Amino acid sequence: MAGPIRNSRRNGHRDLTISFEFFPPKNAEMEDGLWDCVARLQPLNPSFVSVTYGAGGSTRERTHATVARLSRETGLNPAAHLTCVGASRADIKEVLQSYLDVGVKHIVALRGDPPAGLGAAYEPHPDGFMSTAELVKAAREIGDFEVSVSAYPEKHPESASIDADIDVLQAKIDAGATRAITQFFFDNDVYFRYFDRVLARGISIPIVPGIVPVQNFKQTRNFAQRCGTTVPQWLADRFDGLDNDLPTRRLIAAAVAAEQVIDLLDQGVEQFHFYTMNKADLVYAICHLIGLRPAPTTVSA
Ligand code: FAD
Repeated sequence: MAGPIRNSRRNGHRDLTISFEFFPPKNAEMEDGLWDCVARLQPLNPSFVSVTYGAGGSTRERTHATVARLSRETGLNPAAHLTCVGASRADIKEVLQSYLDVGVKHIVALRGDPPAGLGAAYEPHPDGFMSTAELVKAAREIGDFEVSVSAYPEKHPESASIDADIDVLQAKIDAGATRAITQFFFDNDVYFRYFDRVLARGISIPIVPGIVPVQNFKQTRNFAQRCGTTVPQWLADRFDGLDNDLPTRRLIAAAVAAEQVIDLLDQGVEQFHFYTMNKADLVYAICHLIGLRPAPTTVSA
């Protein structure tokens, strides 16, 4: 087993906080997959679980239904992603109210991608919020929601610089955000350099690393290219030649993510947000490796 795993302080003496991200299922089969995933991960006692919002608000109802069911049927603390794209202020306020109505009080507030896709110019809805900060402010005013937002260790593709990106993060914090979850990254130095710059600006909210277990290398690389995440050559090398070898790919994926998380942990990081892709096994294994064990009594989904 690799050195960083052997040498880590994983078994002990620090308070680890984890959260999981799911996407709303599109059909009955995916629905089963999601609830199996939730049931497997729930005993690890995440501080919250979040559910994404499809591009342009395309999953408005499905996201709401998933979040509402998590709230109703599990002991989990759900958070709903919500974007500003293609919706008026009144529409978004209605969505926020619908979450309050089912007892959900945590929003992951986002601007969202331009409807024409990443790279196209972003056009706010004529009656919509002009920025994420405005959405954050509305969420705080309407229901005193807990609000998490995004952060970009390698900067957002539309940002002129990391500093300009941190200006946007600062505006979201000034509006009431209390946690940032990062875009995924593979090089931990990138995260720590960003973290130092954020700290130097006097920002003190948690900047929680978003961890992607590489379920499928080709898909992950394509997605990374679109959202500005660097895929190091060493990562490509590890998956090289494994396109038709799923069992080995899964072992490599677990090792890569475990190495990343354990290195972050060894350097003092105590909060992790896992992009689960609605698949539990890799995430469960990584959590086990860092010392997390199922709670003795659990409520299943
Ligand atoms: P912000 O952080 O508000 O802004 C990002 C960048 O856009 C800025 O740094 C700047 O370059 C530019 N920008 C924004 N506002 C201004 C302004 N007023 N003036 C100048 N420049 C500006 N997308 C979804 O559709 N659904 C989801 O559920 C979802 N979940 C996500 C979860 C996380 C943790 C992350 C990191 C991203 C998620 N996204 C999601 C993707 C996100 O919507 C896109 O990256 C989008 O392009 C930016 O939204 P944001 O809230 O991150 O933008």
